[in-house]
Amino acid sequence: MKTAIYPGSFDPITLGHLNLIKRASRVFDKLIVCVMVNHEKSPLFSVEERMEQIRRVTAKFENVEVDSSDDLVANFARTKGASAIIRGLRALSDFEKECQMAVFNKKINPDIDTFFLAASEKYMYLSSSAVRELALFKADLTDYAPRELIDEINQRISEKNSVRR
Ligand code: ADP
Repeated sequence: MKTAIYPGSFDPITLGHLNLIKRASRVFDKLIVCVMVNHEKSPLFSVEERMEQIRRVTAKFENVEVDSSDDLVANFARTKGASAIIRGLRALSDFEKECQMAVFNKKINPDIDTFFLAASEKYMYLSSSAVRELALFKADLTDYAPRELIDEINQRISEKNSVRR
């Protein structure tokens, strides 16, 4: 059984992430989407909220599981018996950072390989931060965020924004 881990912040999950999940879940027997805890960032949604959102929008994929970790992804992969890490490559700017991470992860866990999936043309410039920014200006998120999550993203952004003012 070939298990892959797809780690990220997913704050919030976008249609670009979802596109990668769909494609990777066709190639591997099991795909674990893992919300990585980043203590440096102050997130829009808590780890638990993000896990619940990802579960909701990936419910139709039978071989997709959702988890979270505050460990290094290479260590998390070992505990799950995974042999692959999935990452997405968008514009050139992702390349250097992603290659560096792949090298470190291989050193920590030689049994694991990082597989890069090219972003689909439609989502090449889409990121969670772009979704947060668009929501701040009340732009239509239909082409960028899962339909089920649009209201809660808009609501959370406006709550955070009113606290800041
Ligand atoms: P991180 O903080 O680890 O970069 P993200 O949630 O921003 O977490 O992204 C997780 C992974 O998904 C990264 O490999 C990123 O390159 C990839 N990714 C993000 N947005 C897209 C997209 N629109 N298309 C393809 N891959 C994407």
